[in-house]
Parts: sequence; structure tokens; C-alpha cells
Amino acid sequence: MSPPRVTVVGAGIAGVTCAAVLAGRGVAVTVLDRARGAGGRLATHRHAGRPADIGAAYFTVSGADFAGQVRRWQAAGLAREWTDTLGVFSGVDRAPDSRGPMRWAAPGGLRGLVADAAAELTVRTGHPVRSVRPGPGGRPLVDGEPCDAVVLAMPDPQAARLLDPATPAGAAVTGRAWNPVLALTLGHPRHAWAPLRAAFVNDHPELSLVADDGDRRGDGAPVLVAHSTGDLARRFDADPAAAAGPMTAAVHRLLGIDSDPEWTHVHRWRFAAPAGSRDEPFHLGTDGIALAGDGWGRSRVETAWLSGDRLGRELAGRLGH
Ligand SMILES: Cc1cc2nc3c(=O)[nH]c(=O)nc-3n(C[C@H](O)[C@H](O)[C@H](O)COP(=O)(O)OP(=O)(O)OC[C@H]3O[C@@H](n4cnc5c(N)ncnc54)[C@H](O)[C@@H]3O)c2cc1C
Repeated sequence: MSPPRVTVVGAGIAGVTCAAVLAGRGVAVTVLDRARGAGGRLATHRHAGRPADIGAAYFTVSGADFAGQVRRWQAAGLAREWTDTLGVFSGVDRAPDSRGPMRWAAPGGLRGLVADAAAELTVRTGHPVRSVRPGPGGRPLVDGEPCDAVVLAMPDPQAARLLDPATPAGAAVTGRAWNPVLALTLGHPRHAWAPLRAAFVNDHPELSLVADDGDRRGDGAPVLVAHSTGDLARRFDADPAAAAGPMTAAVHRLLGIDSDPEWTHVHRWRFAAPAGSRDEPFHLGTDGIALAGDGWGRSRVETAWLSGDRLGRELAGRLGH
């Protein structure tokens, strides 16, 4: 008998984790992503061959299951402990540092964590999915093609575009607000700022975080990545590149930099993080349409991983594997 066929839409950390669990249990899985590569919001921007992390700034670990995965990434050289202490700015004033959980970073960029799992899977990139509908016999239709189940592993507003709001999955993602962020990457000829790992920027009109990507990634490159406030991202939604000037000026004021960067790059994350959270780790309907991602819990890398992992196990069991 041929194995059940599952389509996973979204090759972020949630989608590839879910697909890897299903594939490991003997399910035939295909992952589709509209982007050029896997990774989603674990994203890197390459400048002159060097990657900078422009999505998630780092990740933290709380549960035992994710800790096991992180140990495997660490052993493979994909992840490393970075710091438990981050700077804080209150407006433009430096406040006392904040100690918290260990922040993990990736020497080759966080996208590598997803690419590692994706390498073992059938992943079709550059493949936008336009419609997911319930089908006859409980077999959903993905752009009209039947499969035994489909997983949408992406932000709620992106999933909502594919679904009928009258279906259980469509209703689950309709009307859920997500906040935008612009990520500005600045390449300087040399370090023109006092030693910094990263700093939360509170009560600032333009910035929410600034990180030294060379420190984070361990190669010492003079590259900064700054995240905007949601308000600034909304203001520049139609022309994100135009935010480079005001964001650069804000970073320079904050860190006391008085020389120009060699290059800048702005990436728009229209759906960076959900405004609210949920208690359930995923959705799995009787129509075979499932939802996963960091919208299922508190938005962070660990939540997305856990959501994909849990859904993969539940779905494999339902499919008799
Ligand atoms: C600026 C920023 C800062 C962050 N900082 C942190 C942090 O410091 N720590 C932390 O833990 N987390 C952080 N996060 C959150 C973290 O990045 C996410 O929780 C995690 O990456 C979400 O993974 P995911 O798989 O759920 O979704 P995503 O990574 O968004 O993956 C969804 C995928 O679906 C694809 N897709 C969407 N629509 C379609 C379609 N129609 N057809 C085909 N493919 C489609 C997309 O291309 C994408 O690849 C940050 C996120 C951002 C944006």
C-alpha cells in the first residue's frame, strides 16, 4: 500500500519540522514555499557573501524537547550559545543591562537551522499556493490537487488568503492581527561603536532592537541589524527602502556613530509577530486541513518548532503511522 500523502505549505521552521516528523514516520511529504529558499522568518541577507540575520535576532530554549534539538544543532556546529545579557536603552538613554535566558545564535545564520532539516526533505521553493479547500472523502485540495492532509505553516494572515473563512481552519485564522517590523542592516567599514552584543530599545519612536551581527555570529564583522517599531514599519509599508535614512540616523544617534555606513539594506516583515497568543499548539481539522507556526503559542522560534513537531506527531498518528 502506498503511504499517505501530505502537503506542507511553508518552509519555515514550523513547516520543515512538521514535515521531518511526518517523513520520519513513513508519510510521503512535499513542502511548498513561495520564497526562493527555505527559512521563512529565520532569514539571512547576504552582502559580499556574508550572511546577516535579518529575521529572528536569536532564540531561547525553555522546554526539554526543544533543548534536545538545540543540542543536535550545537553538535553539528549550526548553533552556539551567544549571551544571557543584553543592553537596554530607554529612549536614547542607556539603562542597566538586562540578564535573562541564554540567547542562542547561528555562526552561519539562523536560516541554516531550517536548511539543515530541509535538505532531507522534498522541498519545492518558488511555488506559491493559492487555495486550500476541503475535498471529497476528507481529502483536502491544494490548488485543486487532492492529498491526505495539508499543513499551512505560516502567519495567520498569509494562511487566511488561502482558506475559505467558512471552514474551521479559515475561521481560526480570520481577523487575527499581526504586527510589522522593518529590519535595517548596516555595513560599516570598521567598528565605529562601543562594544555591544544587542540591546532592547524601549520607548523609542523608530527602533525596538539593535544587534551587532558580527558579535552574534562570532566573526566580528562590523555589521549592525536594527529592528523598527511597528509604527515606523506601518509608516513605510509602501516604500520600506525609504526607511533606511531615518533608521540609520536613529541607530547612529543611539550608538554615537559619526561615520557613514558603506551599505544598508531594509527588509519588510509585514507579519513579524502576532498581536495575541493562543493556548493550543496547532489546529488539526477533520477535513484534513491543519495549521501550525509561531501564531500557536507565544511568538518565538521555540514555539514554531514545537508547533510543527507536535502537529507532525498528531497527524502521523491520525494517518496510522
Ligand atoms: C524581525 C523579527 C524578529 C524576531 N526575533 C525573534 C527572536 O529574537 N527570538 C525568537 O525566538 N523569535 C523571533 N522572531 C520570530 C521567529 O522568527 C518566528 O517565530 C519563526 O521564525 C516562525 O516560523 P514559522 O515557520 O512559524 O513561520 P515563517 O518562518 O514565517 O514561515 C512561513 C513560510 O510560509 C511561506 N508562505 C507563506 N505564504 C505562502 C503561500 N501562499 N505559498 C507558499 N508558501 C507560503 C513563507 O514564504 C515562509 O517561508 C522574530 C521574527 C521577526 C520577523
